[in-house]
Parts: sequence; structure tokens; C-alpha cells
Amino acid sequence: MEDFEGRKTILELEDVSVTFPNGMRALKPSSLKFYRGEFAVLLGPSGSGKSTLLRCLNLLQEPTTGRVSSPWISGPASESSARGHRRRIGMVFRQHQLVLSMTALDNVMAGMAGSCGLFRAMFPSDAMRIEALECLDRVGLAGKAMNRASELSGGEQQRVGIARALAQKPDAILADEPVASLDPARASRLMGLFKKICGDSGITAVVSLHQVSLAREFADRIVGLRAGEIVFDAPASELDDSAVLEIYADSAALSGGGSGARRPPAAPHEAREREPAGTF
Ligand code: ADP
Repeated sequence: MEDFEGRKTILELEDVSVTFPNGMRALKPSSLKFYRGEFAVLLGPSGSGKSTLLRCLNLLQEPTTGRVSSPWISGPASESSARGHRRRIGMVFRQHQLVLSMTALDNVMAGMAGSCGLFRAMFPSDAMRIEALECLDRVGLAGKAMNRASELSGGEQQRVGIARALAQKPDAILADEPVASLDPARASRLMGLFKKICGDSGITAVVSLHQVSLAREFADRIVGLRAGEIVFDAPASELDDSAVLEIYADSAALSGGGSGARRPPAAPHEAREREPAGTF
């Protein structure tokens, strides 16, 4: 799947919409292509449909209408086709979803279960351990491989989450608000590390964020969502203040300040972490 500029499509949504059983229309009919090697950000306020779109891309959410395609989906939708697709796509979650009682290394090896099978992931070979250690090394955490996840800071836990996705040797990584629990400085460092790793390995990334500044700093391309609708899709350099206002038009973040002035959200309203500044 190549477009006229020679870019290879790796994930595609064609008229995909999602309406939940309670009638909530989380995603209006949307068509999008993601290209090999790009670092794309889904930007929008909470509830705008970012997670739903990511879950559709990974076939965790069945679209109400439309079609998701990738080089690994062949023929009609089936569980084996979906498994093949998911094997090529790593996920990084908002709450990292590590097993806190397990070591960082064991959590990373759990990421290999999709490709090598659960049994082998439970009883890993030395080669698998070394591979997992290399993934931790790439996120700067080889020295904490034997620490339980519960002993790691929030930023370190999220880096283990990235290492776990890397252990899958994915073609693409979908990250759902991966820095939502970090303060701005750590969020920026983690995004920088994540982008470098993806760039070095040619991994396509689709990352949902609600922080405009991070999207501007790191995205190659920004897809803006508002109330389940794509209202912006362009290179990050084209995200001017009027585009931000369009994306956040219905958001409470725009009515702040008491002046009635409509301003783009300046900073994330995030929980702060316990570790000192200067670390992840
Ligand atoms: P975001 O990731 O941008 O915060 P989501 O994709 O999680 O947005 O949600 C989009 C909308 O769909 C929200 O209004 C949310 O409350 C709603 N929603 C999400 N999941 C469900 C569900 N399982 N059932 C009903 N509504 C849902």
C-alpha cells in the first residue's frame, strides 16, 4: 500500500465509526492512513475519542461501521487475522499496566508472549532474557532489571512499558496518553526518548496526547480530534493557535482565567510524581 508520494501505509481506517451500546457516539465516520516510520500524535481533550480510535487501530474495539486494514490483515475479519495484526503492533498504556509484583525484566518478557507463546514467555531461554535486557537497556533501565515494578518511579514504570512493547519487535506502537501521569519536564524527556527509539528502529508511532506543547515539540503529524470527529490533520508545524482553538472548542480548558477569553490550554493539569526533578 503506497501513496503517490511513495509512502507506505501501515494502518488505515476507512469510514470507521464507533457507537457504544448506550448510544454514545465516540467516533464519527473517520478515514485515516498512518505511514511507515511516522510519529503521529492524536491530540484532543479528554473524551474526544483518542483512545477509541487507538483501540480500533489495534482491533481491540470493533468499529460500528467501516474497516481497519494493515499489511497483516488478510481477508475477512477473523480472530487469527486480528492476532497476526496485534503481534506487529505494540501498545503502551496510560497506566503502563505492569504486574507490580514482578521484576522489570519479567514484565518485559511478558511482552514476548504474543510472538513466542505464553509457555515460552513463562519459561524463557537465556536468549530471551538477553533480548529483554537489551530492551530495558534501550530505555536506560538495564540497571533496574531485577527491581520489582512496584519499586520503580512512575516514569521508570512507563519506560518498562515501552521496553515491553519493544520486546514484541513491533512495526508500530500505539501509545495511549503515555505521559499522562508525569509532570511536564519528565513527560517531555520520556517523549524525547520514545521518539528517538521509534526513529532509530523505524517504528511507526501513533500517540494520543492532550498536551498541545508536547504535540508541537515531538509530532511529525498531528491529528486533532473534537467530540469524536477529526478536525485537523497536518504536519505539526501547521498547528497554529486557531487550529488549537478548533480542536479544543468545546473544552472547559478554553474558558479558564475568568476573562471569558478563549485561549489554547497552556499546560497539562497532571498529577505530580514523587521522585526529585531531573530524573524520569
Ligand atoms: P479520550 O481517549 O479522548 O479521552 P475516549 O475514546 O476514551 O476519549 O472516549 C470517547 C467518548 O466515549 C467519551 O465520551 C467516553 O466517555 C465514551 N466512552 C468510552 N468508552 C465507552 C464505553 N465502553 N461505553 C460508553 N461510552 C464510552
